[in-house]
Amino acid sequence: MAVDIKKYSVTRNACKLCTPLGAALAFSGIENSVPLLHGSQGCSTYIRRYMISHFKEPVDIASTNFSEETAIFGGGLNLKRALDNIITQYKPGMIGVATTCLSETIGDDVPMILRDYKAGKKLEDLPAIVHVSTPSYRGTHADGFHNAVRAIVDTLLPVSEDSRYTGEDTTGSSKLVNIFPEMVSPEDMRYMKEIISSFGLKGIMLPDYSERLEGALWFEFKRIQEGGTKLSDIRKMPSASGSLEFGRILAKGESAGRVLKERFNVPLYNLGLPIGVNETDRFISALNEITGVETPDAIKKERDRLIDSYVDGHKYVSQARAIVYGEEDLVAGIVSFLTEIGIKPVLCASGAKSGLLESVLKDINPDFDKSNALIMSGADFVEIEEIAGRLKPDIIIGHSKGYSVARKLNIPIVRVGFPIHDRFGGSRILHLGYRGAQQLFDRIVNTIMENRQEASDVGWSYI
Ligand code: SF4
Repeated sequence: MAVDIKKYSVTRNACKLCTPLGAALAFSGIENSVPLLHGSQGCSTYIRRYMISHFKEPVDIASTNFSEETAIFGGGLNLKRALDNIITQYKPGMIGVATTCLSETIGDDVPMILRDYKAGKKLEDLPAIVHVSTPSYRGTHADGFHNAVRAIVDTLLPVSEDSRYTGEDTTGSSKLVNIFPEMVSPEDMRYMKEIISSFGLKGIMLPDYSERLEGALWFEFKRIQEGGTKLSDIRKMPSASGSLEFGRILAKGESAGRVLKERFNVPLYNLGLPIGVNETDRFISALNEITGVETPDAIKKERDRLIDSYVDGHKYVSQARAIVYGEEDLVAGIVSFLTEIGIKPVLCASGAKSGLLESVLKDINPDFDKSNALIMSGADFVEIEEIAGRLKPDIIIGHSKGYSVARKLNIPIVRVGFPIHDRFGGSRILHLGYRGAQQLFDRIVNTIMENRQEASDVGWSYI
């Protein structure tokens, strides 16, 4: 449904984050890698600050450190010097170079600078260098993330007839599956790997920051934290039996899974983010199809318990009205989940402007039109606040940037996704699979109950 709101000529508090932030997060999910931002120091500092506050882990993001002079004459020399410094100090296996608004605006030709840099070196002395273009005035952090993942596959897996998937177990790796998990939490990543291995599969997850951005205590300093997708595993991806790629919006554009399909004929399973029963059922069916293996009992029991809790809890949430915001694919996943538990989304907002959110929400729920929910693309929190004031929802679901709206309007908020800067444990929030839906369901039911209990004159101590 079209949004009837006052139009502003400027954005004041965008419902999205900076594009290279997504790229830096994706690069952090590769073993022994260093993200390098080509631009001014402030961009790396802001992104580091955002990631550290959410993950509560050290995050190193290098910068080519533009000055006024570089902004005028170009940053080629700075980029080459930065690569030399990183190689000397970190000895990385991969450097992920993402551009920023400034280097994009002055039009630095990064591929040409990198070719020139490599021409003067012995290739065996160099780490893999992956470049992605990420101007933040075009796209969102989710675009930066997806484009970086695609650039990793594109750069590290050039076309080779030898590695085309034939459907036969010629490599001894027919039990291999690629998984592109979207911008999810470390806990989500660990749980997805647990499910995949319970089907007897070896999963190659790209990226995988489940350890690096949520590791154990250190007893000695490490330049680069352990964990991440191994470069040697990425090179095995063309031999996999299939690629599972999460994201209904992503499925409509260019993606890493599509590169593997077009270049190496690896079957691609485009799936929504598996949030709630319906989307998780599709994920589990894809695993059944790839392996020919029945769903393990432990997973079936998680699903059964979840359905039972839906029955127990529906009376507390049925017909509640919600505002959902964030990355488009997360919004789509949460809306799918809310629809099955009887909560009505009244506003679905994202800072992205793919133009696809409405059609994807209708794919998820053919009756979506009848719900009269508003869909807002290119959203700004100022506009979200205006609409939320009129809609008076029972709950707001999104990351912590929406807290000020929730506080001002006195509406309870359930925090999901990234970033979560005002609470502890953002990296351990589980959203995916039956287990994630169970945790989300409990949190949402309890948040709505708590709000009603607080508002009641008498309160209650028993349900
Ligand atoms: S200038 Fe652009 S790239 Fe740098 S932090 Fe701001 S939005 Fe991000």
